[in-house]
Amino acid sequence: MQKTTKPPPAICVAAHHKSVRELMADNEFRALANQPGFLIELRLDFFNDLTDASLSRAMDQFAPNAVATFRHPAEGGMRKDVSDAERLHFLQLAVNRGASFVDIEARTPRDGFNKRAARLIVSHHEFSRPLSYDELRGIWLKQSSQGVADVIKVVSMPKSILDTVPVLRLLDELQNMPRASQVERISGAKVNLPTPLFLCMGEFGAWTRILAGRFGEPFTFARSENAPGTAPGQLTWREMDELYRFRAITETTPIYGVIGNPIAHSLSPLLHNTAFKEMQEDGVYVPFLVDCNPAEFVRAFGTILKGLSVTIPHKESALAACQHLDPSAKAIGAVNTLVRASESSAGLHPEWLGLNTDAPAAADALESALGSLSGKQILILGAGGAARAIAFGVKERGATVMLLNRTRERAQNLARDVGATVIADSDLAKVKIDAIVNATPVGMQPNVDASPLEESQIPPGVLVYDTVYNPQRTKLLELAEKRGCRTLEGVSMFIGQGVRQFERWTGKNAPREAMERAVLDELKKRRSQ
Ligand code: NAP
Repeated sequence: MQKTTKPPPAICVAAHHKSVRELMADNEFRALANQPGFLIELRLDFFNDLTDASLSRAMDQFAPNAVATFRHPAEGGMRKDVSDAERLHFLQLAVNRGASFVDIEARTPRDGFNKRAARLIVSHHEFSRPLSYDELRGIWLKQSSQGVADVIKVVSMPKSILDTVPVLRLLDELQNMPRASQVERISGAKVNLPTPLFLCMGEFGAWTRILAGRFGEPFTFARSENAPGTAPGQLTWREMDELYRFRAITETTPIYGVIGNPIAHSLSPLLHNTAFKEMQEDGVYVPFLVDCNPAEFVRAFGTILKGLSVTIPHKESALAACQHLDPSAKAIGAVNTLVRASESSAGLHPEWLGLNTDAPAAADALESALGSLSGKQILILGAGGAARAIAFGVKERGATVMLLNRTRERAQNLARDVGATVIADSDLAKVKIDAIVNATPVGMQPNVDASPLEESQIPPGVLVYDTVYNPQRTKLLELAEKRGCRTLEGVSMFIGQGVRQFERWTGKNAPREAMERAVLDELKKRRSQ
């Protein structure tokens, strides 16, 4: 990662404990308290044994890495019985005992409070709705002009990925505006210019947590490995640290990502972040839960992105986000990869090239098992997006393609586009087949006992390739083995498409082995859970 003069962003792990005693006995937090680059958020309103003495003991253990918070009940605080004055009393004590940050809601009067050497976070939480750009900017301007906050934290709840765009817009503006003119714009007077910390909760807001350092924000919140977070959408500190390398993200780190819906279980962030880590290449790859048209997403987020993967259900609709299309993606009618084709300049959005790396990745996998595909007879089960990419991919290398699909008409449409024949179940024993490729989701988690073909339908001796890779060993592959068939696991296509994406984006050879090892380890871990 590149070096900047700013301190690297920290990971603030939210303590979830019901008492000071419980927190102080927690080995995970004891270890984190002494680790550079980590902060511990002490939610004082959670503690049922909070007294001056217990808080002082906690501060002995956690200062100076403590962020002290006593949340107001109207902003999610647990103690309705405590007055503003009492809350302020405990926050003052935390500061006196060396807390490095103190978080106080904008609504709380701070009369008599002295932040001493701590940095003051003035916060605003909106738990049930997103904030518009004008609302967000209004909060920022109002708090900045008072000149007392070191950090202005605004947390909101998006209902769509598009609800997070105001946060992106304001962070981008603040980052690109010279500090001097920010001061002028704010009040015309010299003020203590704060740092933003704008977070969006839930899965739509994941990018705001992962990319905080990219926008110069001082830290992000994460959760313990052993407990749910203190706000929806918090990732574990280990995910932040090891998967996203949060502490190494700088304001110039290139950003890549994947768009899909759902996206939570995608292995693409693991695949690509492993590659960046292995190559010691500056870059972070972020999952975006995208519930809108991909073209709208790309228009809003394109200026900060270097490359994008596209997954279900956006592979076809993402064509509209591309100003340029690779000829084979055009023929397939679907893209899984967007490559930045031009830089953005003032007022202009960057242009994007759409590619399909699923097609060559599937053909590569089949070739590795069958040798040249020229003249080979390949039967594809399914006629959706994956079947389409595989059909074009193997056809381009000289294979003859047959299609078998639940909805015959859909198979006929694909057959017409790619130049293939459509067969029925009853033809299976009659036609010569070299390989069968499952391109349906049948057999995928959680329906692991399902197979698109019965054992008796599998012609003995053919190669059987299942593009389903979760589970790694599917029912279809088990049945094929019983019939004496060679088998090929779908993970090879997933790795192959990712390797090609990485190489297009970075212009460097991808570390295929490390990527494959990471994905196989994760699949194994998920199997045992
Ligand atoms: P899709 O566009 O939704 O197409 C699904 C296809 O499967 C359709 O042809 C559909 O038939 C058929 N199908 C669905 N449920 C079925 C059932 N219960 N019985 C029989 N046929 C059924 O999805 P896709 O994008 O093509 O993806 C399909 C699968 O490919 C994914 O689930 C994934 O496991 C796999 N895939 C793997 C990789 C990889 O890297 N290994 C990459 C992409 C996809 P109808 O036309 O009758 O609806």
